[in-house]
Amino acid sequence: MSKKLIYADHAATTPLMPEALEAMLPFMKEEFGNPSSIHSWARKPCEAVCEARATIARCVNADPEEIFFTSGGTEADNWVIKGSEGGMLVSSYEHHAVLNAAASEAGCGRDIVYVRPKVGSGGGYIMPEKLAKAWRDGVGLVSIMTANNEIGTVNPIHLLSDLAHKRGAFFHTDAVQAVGHIPIDVQEMGVDFLSASAHKFNGPKGIGFLFIRKGVKLEPLLNGGQQENGIRAGTENVASIVGMATALKINCERMDENIAHLENLTLRLRDGINRIFPYAVYLGGGGTAQLPGFISVSFPGCTAEGLLHMLDLKGIAVSTGAACDSKNTKISHVLKAVNVTKDIALSTIRITLGAENTIEDVDGIVFALKLLRGKAKLPR
Ligand code: PLP
Repeated sequence: MSKKLIYADHAATTPLMPEALEAMLPFMKEEFGNPSSIHSWARKPCEAVCEARATIARCVNADPEEIFFTSGGTEADNWVIKGSEGGMLVSSYEHHAVLNAAASEAGCGRDIVYVRPKVGSGGGYIMPEKLAKAWRDGVGLVSIMTANNEIGTVNPIHLLSDLAHKRGAFFHTDAVQAVGHIPIDVQEMGVDFLSASAHKFNGPKGIGFLFIRKGVKLEPLLNGGQQENGIRAGTENVASIVGMATALKINCERMDENIAHLENLTLRLRDGINRIFPYAVYLGGGGTAQLPGFISVSFPGCTAEGLLHMLDLKGIAVSTGAACDSKNTKISHVLKAVNVTKDIALSTIRITLGAENTIEDVDGIVFALKLLRGKAKLPR
């Protein structure tokens, strides 16, 4: 009998939703026309792109003309960081798509200030007081992520954007981990720019979008044709755009149900872990302002890497911090930013559940951890 595989690494990427695949297929087959063509082959692809833009706009409470398609979260982040002006204030635990883009701008002489998240118990958040304290003259852009990709904490974006606006700066949020998982409303959040990536919400890889508030200027990313209002040229990735919109719409419709399901699973998982490892240390919000299904947990005394490989051998996929960092054994910049000890950092794994996970999956993870402890591969 083959063992059941358990995927619990949804912060790295999510499975493509069957409905999204179905919606994409016609545009990879018979409806292959270029949406910009004048002849009739353009009609359906052009309508589909237009409809997808409107669907996505509705999901985040924006206008369709404020949604710009990109190749994913990295591109959206780079576009804002490199296309904006003035000094920049960014949080020190952003994804590298923001941090490295900002470092590249610093190399060109732009002033960058880093703001650290709150540390200690209940830490992992960027608070408005911290932002105010770090403020410097000349800041033109603030970039603070909606939810952190390693510890799952959700920031009070409306408070942070309000402060930035009062001081005359624009506000960007990398919402890659949040879109499709928690309610996102660009009006309530008060953001000028918001980045998203489809593969994090059961859409295809290599597609995302950037919300740019009407009237806010951003340098064009790619020069060429008139696609994306002339500021991000290139023939549209029609199938992926359609897949992204379908996945986002369905995830938004199912959001309450998904959140309730994931909260249930998370409670059960934490309960199971606590029974086996009473000394386990949780990072992040501990249930408040935390992404649903997101657990960052440390097992002091063992290495996260070893644990990950042992779970992998049992068919269970989890992660040690950000996916792009998972081949690195050095402490991640996020865990450094929240000031955890080296022992805790090197023994932290990220378990991120998705809507398709079941109670049996959670019990399977707990059972595997129990077996590993039983074999003395984990401290008692
Ligand atoms: N921002 C955050 C918070 C992420 O978690 C990721 C991916 O892990 C990205 C940006 C990059 O997105 P993409 O993979 O679409 O380039």
